[in-house]
Amino acid sequence: MESSNRCSVIVVGAGISGISAAKVLAKNGVEDILILEASDSIGGRIKKHSFGNVSVELGAGWIAGVGGKVSNPVWELAVQSGLRTCFSDYSDARYNIYDRSGEIFPSGVAGDTYKKAVESAIQKLRTDQDSLVSADVSDVPELSTSPETPIELAIDFILHDFEMAEVEPISTYVDFGEREFLVADERGYEYLLYKMAEEFLFTSDGKILDNRLKLNTVVRELQHSRDGVIVRTEDGCVYEANYVILSVSIGVLQSHLISFNPHLPVSPYPNRAR
Ligand SMILES: Cc1cc2nc3c(=O)[nH]c(=O)nc-3n(C[C@H](O)[C@H](O)[C@H](O)COP(=O)(O)OP(=O)(O)OC[C@H]3O[C@@H](n4cnc5c(N)ncnc54)[C@H](O)[C@@H]3O)c2cc1C
Repeated sequence: MESSNRCSVIVVGAGISGISAAKVLAKNGVEDILILEASDSIGGRIKKHSFGNVSVELGAGWIAGVGGKVSNPVWELAVQSGLRTCFSDYSDARYNIYDRSGEIFPSGVAGDTYKKAVESAIQKLRTDQDSLVSADVSDVPELSTSPETPIELAIDFILHDFEMAEVEPISTYVDFGEREFLVADERGYEYLLYKMAEEFLFTSDGKILDNRLKLNTVVRELQHSRDGVIVRTEDGCVYEANYVILSVSIGVLQSHLISFNPHLPVSPYPNRAR
């Protein structure tokens, strides 16, 4: 049977944008909120994993955009929470390569290795691009428009998205500065999220115990009208609110996991919206 609860604002997704939005609402007196998160933790694409007794970042690893005229709020949070970071110096690869004891690699060894890796990647990229150009178009039916298999998605990501998806100039660097810092902290980049959450959600012993955050709750349907919004989740619950903030990724929207009633405006790129 469906149960129903009403609040002022429902935030879908507890990644950095969802948690930031909820924090801003709470700080402005809107405490009657509900955060619905599909996975078993907050953080979204900021997530660490324990591997060989060290923390490895699975998602975001750098704080980009530091040192400019405007202060980067993510950098401010990192400083406030004492997150350990290392400056990424792309003018000298040596500064970014460490041996097991934590010593910086000798410049010759690091420089040569880095140069070889870059050259071989460029060579591979050119070969792949040449073979794509010379191939019969019918041999690569989906690649140029709509990658589907894991290998097509990987190639599409490396050839197009990784470096070229951003339109220059990139506002992060223009607004906040050109410098980048790698997060090198055992608590993980996600520690920032917990510090942010602590400001408005009830926590104890580093755990969020606030019932306004519902983990393992997958939103499947959003019904919206002038009267507000009705949110239906995979486990059969129904939540009502005056407003909803949807912070899921474009990929989730394209997957049609969440249905909208009435529909969202139609995508101008129908082939990619899968
Ligand atoms: C491998 C990788 C490396 C990256 N490196 C960097 C970097 O170095 N520096 C940098 O600044 N950025 C980096 N990014 C980008 C950065 O991680 C993201 O821009 C940022 O974390 C996005 O935050 P978000 O809150 O907007 O979205 P997300 O983190 O995707 O949060 C959305 C949340 O919504 C939840 N959700 C999805 N669907 C539903 C549903 N139906 N119901 C309920 N909840 C749902 C998800 O579980 C997720 O927790 C990287 C990303 C990846 C994947």
